[in-house]
Amino acid sequence: MEKLNRTDAEWRAKLTPEQYRILREAGTEPPFSGDLLDIKHKGEFRCAACGEPLFGSDSKFDSGSGWPSFTRPKDPDKVSEQQDGTHGMTRTEVRCARCDGHLGHVFPDGPGPEGQRYCINSAALSFAKDEGAEEGAEEGAEEGAEETGAAD
Ligand SMILES: [Zn+2]
Repeated sequence: MEKLNRTDAEWRAKLTPEQYRILREAGTEPPFSGDLLDIKHKGEFRCAACGEPLFGSDSKFDSGSGWPSFTRPKDPDKVSEQQDGTHGMTRTEVRCARCDGHLGHVFPDGPGPEGQRYCINSAALSFAKDEGAEEGAEEGAEEGAEETGAAD
């Protein structure tokens, strides 16, 4: 993947302070605070910094952790993973492979066949709803979500 390189000043101008803190300084938003936690629409989750599509709604699940969680990236090449020894823990950090923005961490306790749980900050992602998707054509378990969530 072609790398996107911007200067620190460019990132500061482009991102909100909260996005900058997370994406460029490997920060973490408080649990249950993010805008994308309860998104259940079909669509894709893109890097908030560079716009690269990183995760699909089909891999999103409710982990109970308070952060948007996914079983896998859209494509393994979309993210880079590296060991993170900060905060006295050994974790695996997940970054956008294109712009190197910090997204969150991945843990080996996911529910899918991959066994992975990508625990990602809402502020590091933007959601693009799949406009072509038929609302209500999905399993039907989410009935009522349209009235409460998608009225705008
Ligand atoms: Zn990116």
